[in-house]
Amino acid sequence: MTQYPLPTGLQATTTVWQKLWRGLQRHCPNCGQGKLFKGYLKVEPICAVCGQDNGQFPSDDAAPYFTILLVGHLVAPFAITMAVKWPTVSLWWQLGIFLPVTLGLTLGLLPLIKGGVIAVASHFKVIRR
Ligand SMILES: [Zn+2]
Repeated sequence: MTQYPLPTGLQATTTVWQKLWRGLQRHCPNCGQGKLFKGYLKVEPICAVCGQDNGQFPSDDAAPYFTILLVGHLVAPFAITMAVKWPTVSLWWQLGIFLPVTLGLTLGLLPLIKGGVIAVASHFKVIRR
């Protein structure tokens, strides 16, 4: 039995989890091979591999929202634990520890989460108006 390839852009068997994983890796959610970003956060409008228009999928405030939510839940328990367990540690030491950690996690996770948001938007066909 001859199997014909699916037309470009049509991958009916791709699940939302597969697309999410591709987006988290900053790859095109449709093919998983093309780059999703052409810079730090600038979306490559058309995938160079499969031709999908990834620029039509909004991520707007969702990516920063989920990034702040995740980083806050990662950093806050340690900051609270430090403040409770070692109350003599100065504010400058706490700032010296948690400010770079928070900044690093935020800047590191933001492109990944933005890719995931775009991937989920592409799966559910949420397009920019
Ligand atoms: Zn692609």
